[in-house]
Formats: sequence, structure tokens, C-alpha cells
Amino acid sequence: MAIAIPNQEAAQLEPMHTLYREGGADRMTAPHVVYREGGCPHANCDQSLQAIDFRLEAFGRAIHDPLVRAWWDDVGFAGRCPSCGDWIHFTIRGKRAVHESEARSLPQLPSNWADEAVIL
Ligand SMILES: [Zn+2]
Repeated sequence: MAIAIPNQEAAQLEPMHTLYREGGADRMTAPHVVYREGGCPHANCDQSLQAIDFRLEAFGRAIHDPLVRAWWDDVGFAGRCPSCGDWIHFTIRGKRAVHESEARSLPQLPSNWADEAVIL
């Protein structure tokens, strides 16, 4: 019986991730993402955050450009959940709950990011 070895699988996906990332960075493609995990990563929050089109162009170049760069650099950015108000670190690969202290060290979405974003 064949058993998938997670590390091997990850190693195979890595070149694809790099290709995808470099292509997006070259074109300054707007960050939009579909996550495997559907909801807000904070406990007891039912905010849906499965698919997000951040629509950063709505905030002007001064906000758009550094955030798009951070996205494709794999740094990602932090923003508050529109429901529970707690911080989330968004990246190409996933989203996770972070404390405010960690969010402060990351590029940050504008406080009203969810008003412009399309969230499914
Ligand atoms: Zn939440």
C-alpha cells in the first residue's frame, strides 16, 4: 500500500509555490486567495474567510504597492478580523491568529480593509 510522505509532497510543491510567487511578484498581481481553512482562525468566531480578494488598489499606491510586495515576498500582512476584531496574519499559504505584538511587526492592512475586500 502506498503511503504519502508529507515531507516529500511538500518538497514537490515547493518549486510550484516559488514559480507562482515569482510570477505574481513580476506582474504585481493583486492579492486574492482561496484558503483550505474556511473561517477566522480565532476561536469562537464564525467569520467566513475562505476566499478573499483584498482589492488593495482601492487604497491608493502608497498602501497598495508595499502590501502587494509583502504578499509576493511570502511575508504577507496582518489585518483585524471584521467580526471578532482580533489580528490575523494572511499569507499565500495560509492564515493564522496572531497577537497584536506580532501584528505590529508585520505590514498591516488598513483598518477598513474588509469594507473594500470581497470575502466569501
Ligand atoms: Zn474573527
